[in-house]
Amino acid sequence: MKIISDAFELKAYLKTITKRVGFVPTMGALHDGHLSLIKAAKKECKFVVVSIFVNPTQFLAGEDLAKYPSRDEADKKICSLAGVDLLFLPQVKDIYGSDEVSLMAPNVRGYVLEGATRPGHFNGVLTVVNKLFNIVSPDYAYFGKKDAQQLNLITLMVKQLFMSVKIVPVDTVRESDGLALSSRNIYLSVQERKEALKISRALYEASRMVNRKELAVDDIKEAMSKILEPLEIGYVEVLNRDFEIVQELEIGNTLILVEALVGTTRLLDNIWL
Ligand code: AMP
Repeated sequence: MKIISDAFELKAYLKTITKRVGFVPTMGALHDGHLSLIKAAKKECKFVVVSIFVNPTQFLAGEDLAKYPSRDEADKKICSLAGVDLLFLPQVKDIYGSDEVSLMAPNVRGYVLEGATRPGHFNGVLTVVNKLFNIVSPDYAYFGKKDAQQLNLITLMVKQLFMSVKIVPVDTVRESDGLALSSRNIYLSVQERKEALKISRALYEASRMVNRKELAVDDIKEAMSKILEPLEIGYVEVLNRDFEIVQELEIGNTLILVEALVGTTRLLDNIWL
């Protein structure tokens, strides 16, 4: 596995690759969720690039940028064992200058849910993903459905900016008890980890209600909120796949999203129905 930190060196190297390039952007502290994106990329692409970059512009003032988990050596090993061809490990100075052109998230879809709790977060996400796409020029790029709003906005960016990369969504990987894998799970104490299971339980209950054809959004949200108690809920929202709020849900076109605070850790999860 080749490791490159310099964007121009990486661009020059990738010019020599004529095979289909698959790209998996990450912020490191890799787990089986990231690995399933890499596996999906390996299946469809002859050359797989993974980036590890903790992007400062998507963290708001006072957020956990400095203590974001970092496990460089373990991450390198995981990528190498997974058959990654090229690992891009830039430093902040390799990606950002001092007076920057940047992308703005759309006014509506960029400022609801995560964007409401973290205004400006998606400007940073879109800016860095745009830069990474320009550096790597992937044919396919893989993103987790776990970060549904991010996936939606990146898909929108690719469409609206007429980019030629194909965005491939990948299912959320969970622990056997339902907890969605996340780099942030390592912050949870044993007790908090138990509490965190309320999030997937609430989503499973919503899924059972939908299977019973109980499709009223208010009833679903109420049942979920009860299960989530006493966690501090950021949001419980039922949307269609275009990220529009609906009153009655339509099977096959629905996303139910939860953000909850477990101790001091904000966890996201969702279900696609
Ligand atoms: P991150 O390193 O948290 O920025 O995540 C990098 C990519 O991995 C994003 O596309 C995430 O949506 C995806 N991802 C994170 N957790 C999971 C998971 N549990 N299952 C599948 N994909 C995930």
